[in-house]
Order: sequence, then structure tokens, then C-alpha cells
Amino acid sequence: MSRSAELFERAKDVFPGGVNSPVRAFRAVGGTPFFVARAAGCRLTDADGRTYVDYVCSWGPLILGHAPAAVLDAVRQAAERGWTYGAPCEVEVELGEAVRHRMPALEMMRFVNSGTEATMAAVRLARAATGRELILKFEGCYHGHADGFLVRAGSGVATLGLPDSPGVPAGIAGLTMTAPFNDAPAVEAVFRSHGDRIAAVIVEPFVGNAGFIPPVPEFHPALRRLCDRHGALLIFDEVMTGFRVAAGGAQERLGIRPDLTTLGKIIGGGFPVGAYGGRADLMRQIAPEGPVYQAGTLSGNPVAMAAGLATLRETARAGFYEALERRTARLVAGIGDAARRRGIPVTLGHAGSMWGVYFTPGPVRTYADAKGADTALFARWHGAALARGVYLPPSAFEAAFISNAHTDADLDFTVTQLDAALDEARAR
Ligand code: PMP
Repeated sequence: MSRSAELFERAKDVFPGGVNSPVRAFRAVGGTPFFVARAAGCRLTDADGRTYVDYVCSWGPLILGHAPAAVLDAVRQAAERGWTYGAPCEVEVELGEAVRHRMPALEMMRFVNSGTEATMAAVRLARAATGRELILKFEGCYHGHADGFLVRAGSGVATLGLPDSPGVPAGIAGLTMTAPFNDAPAVEAVFRSHGDRIAAVIVEPFVGNAGFIPPVPEFHPALRRLCDRHGALLIFDEVMTGFRVAAGGAQERLGIRPDLTTLGKIIGGGFPVGAYGGRADLMRQIAPEGPVYQAGTLSGNPVAMAAGLATLRETARAGFYEALERRTARLVAGIGDAARRRGIPVTLGHAGSMWGVYFTPGPVRTYADAKGADTALFARWHGAALARGVYLPPSAFEAAFISNAHTDADLDFTVTQLDAALDEARAR
């Protein structure tokens, strides 16, 4: 029995499914997870000493790869000064100013500890500011595990949502409406029937939680227009796309100014940090300046802030995002060629260093399109790739990432292995 298998047996006895976050259990691709012993650069080493080129990058935060020197130094120095004060400190202000410099739509913000906390708080603020209760989200978008987001579409257009998990009260799910991503006419229909009751539209500007789905050009301008016309707020959930798809996130890349933005992942450099922010007139309604309550014992943690600040500084170097995007394009093209050479239908996409592959002729514009892809082939490919030292996201419905630590040589190695893994996946 491998050391990972041994650890998984022990883990299953102490954690549900052996994990502390469900997708890590590999159920979407079969097999069992490897347990990580250490990581450096673009590589993970498991408990049995096997190494993998990592395209999960901790689900997005690690845009500099694992344990980059600049972040490690910042973390060490911060920890020397103590690691939580429960009182304000300078590095919070520095990170807040750095975030606002890159994303001017966050005129003010509040740091929290996860993406889930950020989206929960943003929706509470939107409801308070508008005096309305409904929110609209999109099929296939994930905004964390708060009750109001674990909702699936009711039948028919413009119906209220149904709980997607036991434990979510119907009364809360019923305040969330859903529409297909990239479908502006459907959003218009929702606003026609419920427009005066909608507090906010929340959207992943580039979807990363249904695989990778880019927006069609007219989608976000339509959301902005409809929100303005009906007095609803537009919330960009940039937990994944923030500082990932461009220096100023998806809002810069798309030229859209949301009212509120949620952030996570990269702003903590791999430590637990989230943020929500936006228009100052809205953010001034948060306690203690205003009546909308939200708080956190470890929020603004100095070690996490230092890691985030060091990460943002590294990504601010000239040409950083351009170089990363060029390398991502090259990787994605290599995978596309390998599939097409074998006559395997494939749809690929990327924005910045966020990317995805669907085994379907495409186009993939909605969650329904994504679900039409060959997930069985993906699962076999994932397993074959892993055996060859390449770690892809363990689900066909998750975006992949590359980091600044992935060199051209690492990408060439990856394409060679993924190419051979396609043959093995088809043969299995
Ligand atoms: N929003 C988006 C777009 C996400 O991708 C995620 C997590 N993958 C979340 C919110 C929730 O963040 P967390 O897991 O930090 O709670």
C-alpha cells in the first residue's frame, strides 16, 4: 500500500470522504487522491516521493507557483513580528491600497478570510443598500458554499430557485433566481418579471467553476445595462479571475465597472484571504461606519496580508501578465493539436493564465454546453496524465491554471505527456 493510500484510509476515518473540501477526493475522475508532502515552483511532491507538474495551483491562488522566495521572505518576516493582533496594522492598509490601485472600482473594501465570506457579505450589503431581497446568479457559476448560492434553477425561465443541498432552507433558496450564463435575453426576461425585487446580479465574469467558459462580448455590457435600468447592483465575483486574467482582473479585461467586487485566492498569495469592495457610498454602509454587520476575528491577518502584498508586487512587474498569457496560449494550443490529430473533438479556451479543455466540438457558452462534453474521456485522461507526472484539476468542471514558475520546458514536458495520455485514455 502506498503512503498516500495509507493516509487516505486514516483521513477517511477522521474527515468525511477523507478530505476537507469535496473536490479533492477525486470522485469526479475516479481513483484516490495523492497526499502532498511538499511543493516548490510548479511541482508537487507526494508522500511517496512522486512529483507532478501542478496545473491546479491550489485552485488559483498560486500565480507565482509554490513557495516563491519573495512571498516566503515576506511571510517569515511577518511571522517574526507575531501572527495575529486582533487590532489594525500597517500591512492591511498597504494591501488595501495596492488592491485599489490595480482595481479602482474598489473605492473601499473589507478583508475577510475566504471567497465564501466575501460573496456572503457582498450580497448582504446589496440587499441592505437596495432594500430588495432577490439575487440573480448563473447556472454553473460557484460563489462559495453559503445557503443562498447552493441553488439550482426551478423549471422554466424566471422562476425562483430550489435548494441544491439538504440543509439549505427553501425560503432562502427561493430568494435566488438563476439564468444561463451568456444568455442576455434570459436575463432580460428575469428582470421583466422580477426587476423591481432584484437586489443584485452576481456573476463569475469568466466562468471557472464549470470548466472554463469565456463570456460572449455582449453579455457583460447587457448585465451592466439591465442592472442600471432596474436599480440592481452588479457584483463581479473575481475570487478566481482577480489578478489572474489581467493585472486589473476581469473588470479591466472586459472594460466593465461593477458596483461590488469579491476577491480571494491571489490576494492572499495562498493564505486565507478574501475581500469585498466597491463603490464608497455602498461600502460606507458596512459596520462600524454603517449599520450592515460583518466582522472577523482573523480578518486582515498580518501574515496573510504580507503574503498577498508580496504576491501582488511580483505580479506588478512589467510584462508579467503578457508573458504568462503567451505561455498559456502555447500550452493550450499544444493540447488542442494533440486532440485534433487523433480526431478527438475538443474545445479549448484561456484568459490570462486561466484555461480549460472540454472534449466536445463546442462551442461551450453555457453550463448545459459544458455538461455535453465527454467527462468519461476527461476522467481517463486525468488518470493517465497523473501517472505521467502531470496534475490536472480532478474534475472536467474546473478551470486549470499556470503559474509564473511553469517554464517553457515544463510546458513542453506537459504537452508531450498529455499527448501520450490521450492515447492511453482512449485505449482504457
Ligand atoms: N467564488 C468563486 C468564483 C470561486 O471560484 C470560489 C472558490 N473556488 C469561491 C467564490 C469560494 O471561495 P472559498 O473557497 O475561498 O470560500
